[in-house]
Amino acid sequence: MDDGIVSINDASLNITSSAILYGLSVYTVFPVLVVGGAKKIFRLQDHYDRLLKSAKIIGIDTFEKDWNFEKFKEAVSLLVKANDIIERVFVRATVHVDAEVAGTLSRGLSTCLSMFVYEGASILPENGARIKTSVWRRIPDYAIPSRAKVNGAYVNSVLGKQDALDSGYDDCLFLDVSGHVCELSAANIFIVRDGILSTPHAEHDILEGINRKTILELAKDMGIPTSERTIDLTELYIADEIFACGTSAFVTPVLEVDARKVGNAEIGTLTSEIRDRYNTIMEGEDNNYLTTVS
Ligand code: PMP
Repeated sequence: MDDGIVSINDASLNITSSAILYGLSVYTVFPVLVVGGAKKIFRLQDHYDRLLKSAKIIGIDTFEKDWNFEKFKEAVSLLVKANDIIERVFVRATVHVDAEVAGTLSRGLSTCLSMFVYEGASILPENGARIKTSVWRRIPDYAIPSRAKVNGAYVNSVLGKQDALDSGYDDCLFLDVSGHVCELSAANIFIVRDGILSTPHAEHDILEGINRKTILELAKDMGIPTSERTIDLTELYIADEIFACGTSAFVTPVLEVDARKVGNAEIGTLTSEIRDRYNTIMEGEDNNYLTTVS
């Protein structure tokens, strides 16, 4: 919490803080990989940058002044050393507006940074997920911007995910306000049609996922044609392959959408190739994407 290690039970926020009252906190989640004896973080600079951008969009302006990348990296290193990490875990790093009874504003208010580690398990069934179009729409950029990872906005994800679970599915598929495909509750989506890998363009109210960006880079390296574009819901019904990706979703095949099987309801060829390549990175075998912290 801020500069020091505290026990999880002592890491508290005041109930009068804007973080509690309005969900006025921005966050990111990244994996710590255990490679031999070393601990490595996947795309740490990207996670720091996105945290900064989320804060900037919302108008939380004290974080950047207090925390440069080097200081942030040192805090991650301290956290990793303080915990007995023997296998992959996730770190949730959050910038909270901790000013008390500040009213509905964001600028010039004090913030604190918290980070904790937790189990690095997938939020989706790893062998394949079943998803359902949500009765809830994704929050549009002109209301609460999805590209800012702001805590309060996650009520939208909670509504979507719970509705999907209540209906017996693994996750929701969010559409944007125009009815185009967006993302899942906490993962981006890719489809394969006729050998082309497509994902909704960033204009469609998605979180600009760090794994989404990685998959696009990997696919290009592997010679797979890619496209960021508008995707209709019915394209999902006839797609050859679909997968979700994200820090806590990894690369997970989607095998059913709204009671329609995707392809023959087995992991597709391109999904399988991309997942293998992605897993190589997650096993710590590609230092291009990794920062060693201890
Ligand atoms: N969309 C949403 C809404 C998310 O919460 C997440 C998880 N952070 C993602 C997409 C995937 O983003 P990333 O690849 O950066 O984990």
